[in-house]
Amino acid sequence: MIPARYDAIIIGSGHNGLTCACYLARAGLKVLVLEKYHSIGGMTNTEETTIPGFQSDTHASCIQFANFSPVPEELQLEEYGFELIHPDPGLSHVFPDGRSVSVHRNLDDTCRSIARYSQRDADMWRVLYQKFLKQKESICASFNNPPPSFTEEAAALRTLPGGLDEYRFQMQNIRSWCNETFESEEAKTLLGGWGVHVGVSPDEVGGASISWLFSMLIQHYGNNIVEGGMRNLSLALAGFLEAHNGEIRVNTDVEQIVVENGRACGVELRDGEQIRAGLIASSAHPRNLVLDLLGRQRVETAVTTKIRQYELGESVMVVYIALRSPVNYRAGPIPGQSVYVHPSPGLSDYFSRIFYEARSGLLPEEPFALICNEAAADPSRVPPGAGLMKLVVQPVPYEITGDAGGTIEETRWDDAKELVADRVIGLLADKYIPDLRDNIIKRVVLSPRDMERKIPSALQGTLSHGAFVPYQVGAMRPIPEMGFYRSPVTHAYLCGSGSHPGPGVTMAPGRNAAQIIYADLGIDFAVVGSRPDE
Ligand SMILES: Cc1cc2nc3c(=O)[nH]c(=O)nc-3n(C[C@H](O)[C@H](O)[C@H](O)COP(=O)(O)OP(=O)(O)OC[C@H]3O[C@@H](n4cnc5c(N)ncnc54)[C@H](O)[C@@H]3O)c2cc1C
Repeated sequence: MIPARYDAIIIGSGHNGLTCACYLARAGLKVLVLEKYHSIGGMTNTEETTIPGFQSDTHASCIQFANFSPVPEELQLEEYGFELIHPDPGLSHVFPDGRSVSVHRNLDDTCRSIARYSQRDADMWRVLYQKFLKQKESICASFNNPPPSFTEEAAALRTLPGGLDEYRFQMQNIRSWCNETFESEEAKTLLGGWGVHVGVSPDEVGGASISWLFSMLIQHYGNNIVEGGMRNLSLALAGFLEAHNGEIRVNTDVEQIVVENGRACGVELRDGEQIRAGLIASSAHPRNLVLDLLGRQRVETAVTTKIRQYELGESVMVVYIALRSPVNYRAGPIPGQSVYVHPSPGLSDYFSRIFYEARSGLLPEEPFALICNEAAADPSRVPPGAGLMKLVVQPVPYEITGDAGGTIEETRWDDAKELVADRVIGLLADKYIPDLRDNIIKRVVLSPRDMERKIPSALQGTLSHGAFVPYQVGAMRPIPEMGFYRSPVTHAYLCGSGSHPGPGVTMAPGRNAAQIIYADLGIDFAVVGSRPDE
């Protein structure tokens, strides 16, 4: 038998694959990361997508959950160039008539913004924030460790005072909880808009707690961006890895995981090269891991059936825009300082309609576009005086069957995408950003098809490695048989956001998977993994 050249191979150089690689390298393992795309980073990357000098975060722009990750400190990422900028406000919601409401760094400022519409809702925001402060440590621990089993979770809820109320809250949808909690449409939309942002409709079970958590994270830590671009997070992780003898190869497409005697022992690349290793950790989409990389013949039918049924979530379309000058909202200068702006006429009725349309295969009549505006807080992204926008249009159908607006006849994304972008930009210009059309120097549109052509983990143009719904979280993510970062094949692990705690820039699946691998190798994570280098 050919001896293994590496102790571990990591498939995919997204931030989770890199995080897992760093922890394994710190334990002295010889690690190789393989990436299909021509540069590292996966969905944490920054590119000059429109014109030179305009640095767009290709996928993720903002840090929410990674704000409470132990990884930056443990891996001393600052020494490798990772630095955060803390924009104020972190999020604004703008309405068509020029109203806006914002989450500021300072709690009193947020409450003043909400109190313009309802003092009662501003007081309620403080109550919700206090609840977050009480739960902060346990939320942080639950993200940054492998998940408890369902039985353990249920037992913990039973012993917690008010546990059943908490369970009810965790199950509640956005529409029901926002109506119960707030009186003004502005506060409901500010908070409930988060659910929509992460692909959860106002009527979906579990949406309320997600919206609450995102909002409170932004209130507490801010909606932060990486100085110079999200790519600098990936580069910092790569810097740590290379300083610990790790290697990275880009333009390297892994075709399959090689299995001998029931154990993963290497990978085979698209060009036929085989590389042997003691273990494999994959941050590819779980569906690709099971059906393509491991292959049906190595995984029992019950598992392949479940992974085919694993729900992917909503498809998105992305528009990158280089602007002559910074974004100029009808609602005034405050949203212009925000890195995230949600524009919508209101909450439940509007959003329920677009989810219904997209899930029925229809291009939405009035699509929703999350506006990312990184240059507002980091002018280094653009030439002096210029501006930058990224529109994440969601939800949109992956297979187009028609147009709810009745004007787009094309049903192939390659033909339809510019027309959909015209509709989105027209809507934004008419209702929220009056000078938008004249301000655009260049735009580049990526349809859901383009997204998955660009990186395979954006399967069907989705961004979460599997929908974030209550039956696909915790120990059930991606499916119960693979809920603890172990695949059905010995020595093959999962380390991407198709595992607990799921999508977003968290570094958590990568670090949590490393904890499991350490345990399987008999290495103490608390001693070796989580202690910064001397
Ligand atoms: C448009 C968009 C906006 C987003 N905005 C935010 C945001 O603002 N904040 C936030 O927290 N999150 C955001 N997200 C989500 C977040 O970016 C992702 O959830 C997260 O970065 C995924 O990280 P990962 O390491 O788990 O996987 P990925 O980053 O998807 O990495 C997986 C890697 O594996 C590689 N790969 C797959 N198969 C193979 C193979 N066979 N061979 C070799 N390589 C392979 C892929 O090319 C990819 O590089 C956004 C996502 C998108 C798409």
